Amino acid sequence: MARERAAAVCTACENVLAVTVWEDGSVHPIGTGATCSCGNETFDVLDDSELEDVPDVDDRGRPQA
Ligand SMILES: [Zn+2]
Repeated sequence: MARERAAAVCTACENVLAVTVWEDGSVHPIGTGATCSCGNETFDVLDDSELEDVPDVDDRGRPQA
């Protein structure tokens, strides 16, 4: 798949987000599509081993019950 789902940490507020990583390497938070809720646009993508820290969300970024 060209777009991979991953977890990433906001470099400004350290919030962990579910993101998609596009084939050009850009990172797009699921739900907001561009920025963290704090407005930052830069994220550090985490390894899969760190995914357990990420809440399950659907494609619109809403937590699943
Ligand atoms: Zn942030």
